[in-house]
Amino acid sequence: MSKCPVCAESFRKNDLESLAKHLQMTNERNDAAHVGWLREYIPMDNYNGGAFSTALADFFALPDGDLKSWIEKRFIDRFLGDTPHPFIEAMQKPKKSLFLGFAAEYFFYMKQRIKSCSYIIARTDKYDVQRYEAQIVMPELQDVDGKDRSQRELMLRMCESLGVSRDLIVNGAPLPPTIHSIKMWNQISESDHWLEAMGAINTLDLLHSRVLKERGAKYDLYHKGVLDNEWIPDQVKVFLQYIVDPKNDRTAEGLDLMAKHAKELNMVEEVQSTFLRSADAFDRHLQARLTRSKQFEGK
Ligand SMILES: [Zn+2]
Repeated sequence: MSKCPVCAESFRKNDLESLAKHLQMTNERNDAAHVGWLREYIPMDNYNGGAFSTALADFFALPDGDLKSWIEKRFIDRFLGDTPHPFIEAMQKPKKSLFLGFAAEYFFYMKQRIKSCSYIIARTDKYDVQRYEAQIVMPELQDVDGKDRSQRELMLRMCESLGVSRDLIVNGAPLPPTIHSIKMWNQISESDHWLEAMGAINTLDLLHSRVLKERGAKYDLYHKGVLDNEWIPDQVKVFLQYIVDPKNDRTAEGLDLMAKHAKELNMVEEVQSTFLRSADAFDRHLQARLTRSKQFEGK
């Protein structure tokens, strides 16, 4: 069974023709989500010709059968390519308000990430996957040498160094796009196959991965010159360095596991589809970080 990358409607395996018809039909009906998806990923003047089926097949075709490269390429095109996501663009020359908007929304994403990884641990029997997810979750939940060195803690200290109390972040509420995206990630993790949950959650940390520069990304999460700015407090720099530190980057291992199990379980199409839906949700969450940063301007 494969799924529509926009609304998750199910089709038979390898039935790209039915998916093409579904996308053509929703396009003709002017369904905003499907129209937006088509314009984003398969821009064409005419979706009714035979060329569309070929373009759709090309879009989903794996380079050398490699799911990992396919996900990396799609992620780069969407967030880190020639036209980067506006949040990434803003991070190249960040302002204080941007760090705070980032934190105020990302805090809730991180909470969901712990839940999603834990769902995967509970729902799979694969030891390699359980170990992988645990290695993501445990640094967030356990002290090292009696100290909390989690990403969460570093981020809250960053906010305090910028004059915003941790209570304001922890007890705040995310904006509607983040709430909506978190609901989707939770629903996938709770109800869909654990491998689809991996495709949704274990792909998004690619935004912090320095490896993508070697795969064609034009941008890192932030320009490294940002760390030379004297106005930026040390606690901000500590957080920024932590999140892109290659020692903390587990994305390559996650993509390898996804590719291996997707092949074994014959679930490549499902992982592709869920990854694409999750990337859309992530896009909206990143927009919310920008919107939120405006609320911190002048503070
Ligand atoms: Zn659909």
